[in-house]
Amino acid sequence: MQTCSRCHSLAADTDLTCPTCQADLRESSTTAVALREFQNNPRVIMIHLAVAEDACPTCQAMAGTYPKDRVPRLPIEGCSHPQGCHCFYQPLLGEIFP
Ligand SMILES: [Zn+2]
Ligand SMILES: [Zn+2]
Repeated sequence: MQTCSRCHSLAADTDLTCPTCQADLRESSTTAVALREFQNNPRVIMIHLAVAEDACPTCQAMAGTYPKDRVPRLPIEGCSHPQGCHCFYQPLLGEIFP
């Protein structure tokens, strides 16, 4: 399941555009927007791909911590969960300056 960051409509994992506002979900899904923010934030050193407790085996295999420029795209391709991919990104922050 994807959420459009512009109108908050839900879209299927396979949808490339928002069914409501036609935004490009590869750029405008909430996970794509979050990833871009983390990549642009110099304090974020790595990005953790977190999976839901009931995630399918495909998603569980993708869980882990990735360099900022090598993070897998969400939704995970090939996710077999009936409600779709629920994976999300968590930023790992570097040294915090006083
Ligand atoms: Zn939308
Ligand atoms: Zn999955």
